[in-house]
Amino acid sequence: MEKIAICPGSFDPVTNGHIDIVRRASEMFDAVIVVVMTNFAKQTHFSVKKRMEFLIKATEGMKNVRVDCYDGLLAEYAREHGANIIVKGLRAVSDFEYEFQMALTNNKLNPELETVFLTARSDYMYLSSSIVRQVAELGGDISDFVPECIIDEIVEKFRRRTEK
Ligand code: ADP
Repeated sequence: MEKIAICPGSFDPVTNGHIDIVRRASEMFDAVIVVVMTNFAKQTHFSVKKRMEFLIKATEGMKNVRVDCYDGLLAEYAREHGANIIVKGLRAVSDFEYEFQMALTNNKLNPELETVFLTARSDYMYLSSSIVRQVAELGGDISDFVPECIIDEIVEKFRRRTEK
């Protein structure tokens, strides 16, 4: 049976930490769907379309990876797409409690669904989308934080915002 994994998140915007997890998942499973979840209570800075566009560019070389979006229950999305693995990155103990709760909930809603945790690479332990936004907003160098193909667009967005 084909092993299809899902990497869900808000990706607002995608970082090198996210891409590292997606790449490692793509080497472990037959196919990976990166899903931009749009039902988050938190307000996002980039549109769903833009977040997907960034992910498509950043995963271009990964042949078994595709990008999608969803605004419902992840357990339902997984069922609809024949996926039974969720892959999540863990940066620190602080990520764990929430992720553990989500994993158990998803498994309760869809008993065929397993969550696999990959430890963040030490280079990316500190990295989050909000760090990228804060640095970009203050005009700092984000080249170590996000894939090269999207740097200019992020810099441009925040440059325009600070000029207002
Ligand atoms: P964020 O926490 O940056 O808003 P998301 O909600 O988009 O990120 O996270 C999607 C997934 O990516 C989660 O499993 C999260 O733990 C993981 N992740 C986020 N940043 C990193 C990182 N720097 N290294 C490894 N995994 C990460």
